[in-house]
Amino acid sequence: MSVWESAEFDGHEQVCVFTDEKTGLKAIVAIHSTALGPAAGGTRFKVYSSDSDALDDALRLSRAMSYKSALAGLPVGGGKAVIIGDPHQLKSPELLHAYGRFIDRIGNHFATGEDVGMTVADMDRIAEVTKYVGGTSKGIDPSIPTAEGVVHGLRAVLKRALGTDSFAGAQFALQGLGAVGWGVAERLHAQGARLIVADVREERVKLAVAAFDARAVPCNDIHAVDCDIFVPCALGGVISEATVPDLKAKAVAGSANNQLASAEAGAALAERKILFAPDYVINAGGIISGILGAAALPGRETPHAPSLDQAIEAIHDRLLGIFDHADAYNVAPEIAAERMAREMIGR
Ligand code: NAD
Repeated sequence: MSVWESAEFDGHEQVCVFTDEKTGLKAIVAIHSTALGPAAGGTRFKVYSSDSDALDDALRLSRAMSYKSALAGLPVGGGKAVIIGDPHQLKSPELLHAYGRFIDRIGNHFATGEDVGMTVADMDRIAEVTKYVGGTSKGIDPSIPTAEGVVHGLRAVLKRALGTDSFAGAQFALQGLGAVGWGVAERLHAQGARLIVADVREERVKLAVAAFDARAVPCNDIHAVDCDIFVPCALGGVISEATVPDLKAKAVAGSANNQLASAEAGAALAERKILFAPDYVINAGGIISGILGAAALPGRETPHAPSLDQAIEAIHDRLLGIFDHADAYNVAPEIAAERMAREMIGR
């Protein structure tokens, strides 16, 4: 395992490796950039096939956090942490405390929150030993501002792909009716959109059919239905070279992280002139509310900071700016977004 030889290494500022033999904790914290402020990024707790895989994940995800926060206009940098192992077997209050003490040792260069394999209760536990943690039960549920931001983003996508900013009558194929997907469905339905839905949880589908007059389709078909916009709100990797030929939508835009399975999948979308909203731009509502919410704590007010609502609404204009840049330089939106983010962080 060599940091400098990893294909994901991108001049990361700091990489910390922590072990606590008593609890079995093995963790890596990667800080990609603090150019715009202290790094922020979640902690992922999962099994990796090797330590190198875990390192690569931390390096890749921390870079993505730099891009996400920069493009969201937040005064923070990018970092990410991974804890290696099966959370169901390894997680204990003692391990979380040991982890929290390590986070505390990094000090004000990095703050963490929830990600895959971690819960709000875990964040509460970590917060017992360090103040550098968000996403605790004292904060708001990030899925609400995330859904709000996705809907602002969808309006921009609708404008660019269909030439209208009215949801009325537009057809959206929604994959995943979880915390974010349900919030998106509620908002689209309230504005007159027509919904086609799929979820592996049958009960969510039944509820959506009743609540939103939605049409249900099998999970394997949702990406391929006839609709205006395909809205992935479940898994990563749903846009691949195998699925792009099936798409009938004019655009793909949703909350799911890492929707593009590969760079080639993004190129295949662009080739078919299907508009793509980079996921880390459209799904930034949660981090915007986490960071600006914390900044609004007593004694930390920023005089000219936008209100939370304005900051989330800005996802609409930000996406239009990315689409303009993509058109101007004849590149796919995800390439335009990455270029813009790298320029903002001086890379
Ligand atoms: P969630 O777990 O609440 O919901 C995911 C839903 O997708 C579940 O209902 C699940 O049953 C369904 N699902 C799983 N596999 C599926 C499949 N093959 N086909 C159809 N449905 C399937 O998660 P969430 O918090 O709503 O997040 C959804 C996505 O958005 C994730 O990719 C997440 O990383 C991303 N995201 C979430 C937030 C947030 O604030 N929660 C912020 C940014 C990005």
